[in-house]
Amino acid sequence: MTGRRSELDRAWRRVLDEVRDFPEEIRDRRVCRPASREEVRGHVEETFGGDAPGDIEQITGDAIECLRRWTVHVTSPRYFGLFNPSVLEPAILGDVLAAVYNLQLAAWSHAPAACEMERFVLGELGRCLDLPPEASHAAFTTGGAEANLSAVLAALADRVPEALTAGIEAAPGRPTLYVSESSHDSFVKIARMTGLGTDALRTVPPTPDLRMDPDALDRKLSRDTEAGRLPLAVVATAGTTAGGIIDPLDEVAEVARRHGAWYHVDAAWGGAAAISPELRPLIAGIERADSVTWDAHKWLSVPMGAGMFFCRHPEAVRRAFSVSTGYMPGETGERPDPYASTVQWSRRAIGLKVFLSWVALGRDGYAELIEHQTEMGDLLRDELESAGWRIVNDTPLPVVCFSHPDLEAGDTTVADVLDRIYERGEVWISSTVLREGRDPVLRACVTSYRTDAGDVGHLVRELERTRTELTA
Ligand SMILES: *Cc1c(COP(=O)(O)O)cnc(C)c1O
Repeated sequence: MTGRRSELDRAWRRVLDEVRDFPEEIRDRRVCRPASREEVRGHVEETFGGDAPGDIEQITGDAIECLRRWTVHVTSPRYFGLFNPSVLEPAILGDVLAAVYNLQLAAWSHAPAACEMERFVLGELGRCLDLPPEASHAAFTTGGAEANLSAVLAALADRVPEALTAGIEAAPGRPTLYVSESSHDSFVKIARMTGLGTDALRTVPPTPDLRMDPDALDRKLSRDTEAGRLPLAVVATAGTTAGGIIDPLDEVAEVARRHGAWYHVDAAWGGAAAISPELRPLIAGIERADSVTWDAHKWLSVPMGAGMFFCRHPEAVRRAFSVSTGYMPGETGERPDPYASTVQWSRRAIGLKVFLSWVALGRDGYAELIEHQTEMGDLLRDELESAGWRIVNDTPLPVVCFSHPDLEAGDTTVADVLDRIYERGEVWISSTVLREGRDPVLRACVTSYRTDAGDVGHLVRELERTRTELTA
């Protein structure tokens, strides 16, 4: 490649221009465009096929064009979608540096600097949760699913240590996980992966405002315990994926403790509220958790994937994950190497991008972004209501689920509204079902720190235009 230095330099400049220009350009461009598998596949094969080495500048340009055309642009301030954020530039720098040095964080001794940078930022974020870094374990994960898996494995190691050697059947009762109807479905996969089986998942019904019902949980736990089940863990959610709803964290903690179950809080998205002193009370009770899931690649505005797992019981984590091999470098220092205290083995420097963003913005800067998005969520609720839409979820966080009398009367459908919106591609929203058996509703989440009042207005106008067209 060295003979192609100038070609590479030009390719880098294309990328640098894109880093700078794209976030500005995307506001007024389509968030998405219809894509057929044949069309995209045909284009990729035609543009990039062939055995001859390519010109890297040309290839980079072609890749940019292709990615621009066929991507749902989650970094657009007019993307009001799932928890996929706009990304902070310091975080992009972090991801580039992780690749440049090919940082390998399996063992501390291979990447002391990166390991300590990760430890530092995890400590800062842990303090926001009031989980003292000195007394807890914290690690970056690929995402929330891996963090939730880590929680269940740590709970097993703590509550049913014999299962680590003799298997689940060695447990004195059937280990059972208590989730809510709105818990993340990663727990279904986790029940399979851990050998607990999906029958070990007990779903607690919600209260009318869609929160986990602590009384119903209490009754289920009592009945199950009498029937010989072993309450392994209770999972509360701080910001459900569908409706951004925060379970009553304190009350659920109380019930979990009473029954001797591990208490896990899945705050994959909502955990970010902890950074803002103003919003922190919304997730009060999270500090009582035995373990917490919090994704940096959601509301901390860093590129995927970056999840975090916090746990108050380092000893349980060690039991769940420790191994020693003849070929890994020996341990140094007081903490076990990442490979021996987490699910992953080889690991990239997931946390470097979080570290650089945190240091660049400071806690105050981060809090401002999160508060701004929360305000934009409030504005969206107000504007939708003024335009005659009905808000159907109850949360202070910026996820807005809504319907309209025209939809409820059957004059048009959620699917038709979405089809029309995706066709034009000016904004992106989704739909969700807030309770099993209920009709779908529209869902808009402020996921970009760049979203401003103009973008919110644009979304509401686009919804009104679509509704009017479809009911004309
Ligand atoms: C997104 C999400 C997850 C899964 O996290 P990934 O990062 O996608 O693996 C788990 N729980 C909740 C509440 C989520 O919103």
